[in-house]
Amino acid sequence: MALEIQEGVDLTPLNTFGVPAKARALVIVHSVEEALVLAEKHKEWGPYFFLGGGSNILFTRDVEETLVKVEIPGREVVDDGPDGTYVEAGAGEEWHPFVAWTLSKGFPGLENLALIPGTVGGAPVQNIGAYGLELKDRFHSVEVLDVKEGTLKRLFSPDLRFGYRHSLFKEEGAKHLLILRVGVFLPKPWVPVLEYPDLRKALASTDDPTAEDIFSAVMAIRRHKLPDPAATGNAGSFFKNPVVDEAVYQDLLKEHPGLPGYAAGEGKVKLSAAWIIDRLGWKGKTLGRAGVAPTHALVLVNVGGATGQEILELALRIREDVERAFGIRLEFEPTIY
Ligand SMILES: Cc1cc2nc3c(=O)[nH]c(=O)nc-3n(C[C@H](O)[C@H](O)[C@H](O)COP(=O)(O)OP(=O)(O)OC[C@H]3O[C@@H](n4cnc5c(N)ncnc54)[C@H](O)[C@@H]3O)c2cc1C
Repeated sequence: MALEIQEGVDLTPLNTFGVPAKARALVIVHSVEEALVLAEKHKEWGPYFFLGGGSNILFTRDVEETLVKVEIPGREVVDDGPDGTYVEAGAGEEWHPFVAWTLSKGFPGLENLALIPGTVGGAPVQNIGAYGLELKDRFHSVEVLDVKEGTLKRLFSPDLRFGYRHSLFKEEGAKHLLILRVGVFLPKPWVPVLEYPDLRKALASTDDPTAEDIFSAVMAIRRHKLPDPAATGNAGSFFKNPVVDEAVYQDLLKEHPGLPGYAAGEGKVKLSAAWIIDRLGWKGKTLGRAGVAPTHALVLVNVGGATGQEILELALRIREDVERAFGIRLEFEPTIY
């Protein structure tokens, strides 16, 4: 099977920040068979760097590795049993249409994760989460290709070390694992997830909301709060919410009354990074061609013509400021390349 290598490819349209970068070499894989060629050619073409929809990455320089863009299609209801439905999709499918498709087939369960950009294959990488649900809550397994060894493997939840915006795929030792297919399990009976305050508020006047109601409400909230990358380059939240010990939270509260904190289990509290950044006056501010969205303090935006370096510079300035004022080091959510 011949795979075409494109050289010197402009990555501006392939990342939602819309920042300029070049791929020395780009290969697009459309099937598992094509992906297997990557393993055969590893000595010649490797190392590889994987790309899905480019919605959680900040390119700060050109890509030296061979860039592999995953466009493997396909959606399938594999098993519909009394306890739930097992659905699989190719890593190259777009996430949001996949969610809409499961709902249209009568299999609810992913509705809280509506309108998240990117691919199905990108979703497990940071264990996408929104409005009270994380992918891990519906995850079944992934099929991966070890591009060094040429072996196909199926990995299950415990293998993936899912955490808050974390999985095995974010760890250095797993950079040779290419996600080919993702399986989710949608349990029966369906139970709505309505813990998230904004969502509860949006559905306050709806009796017994259906999955479709939740899907629509999530989309409406997101459209209101998040800039559309087609108009304003961004990668969603740039900073993770910091998780600290309860004692640290109590100390912070004395100095910063009103700082929101949510129980995160095992004596830990998740703080609102958005509140902290807003408090420090960054919301809506710009630094050259990079800025903080006026509607959401966690979202860094390309105001127009910014480079990845400029956006990173703004992120580092905010991180320094937060560390100085709150003694907390914010972590970045997107992959910084
Ligand atoms: C407007 C906006 C809103 C967002 N909202 C949310 C949100 O609510 N919750 C949330 O969790 N995220 C959110 N995100 C971030 C992003 O949409 C998700 O993280 C998404 O899952 C990334 O998928 P992708 O295909 O674009 O990945 P990419 O950006 O292409 O890649 C991200 C990382 O995954 C790796 N990767 C991608 N595909 C594969 C593969 N097939 N195999 C192995 N590794 C791979 C890449 O190497 C890279 O390190 C948002 C982004 C935007 C722009």
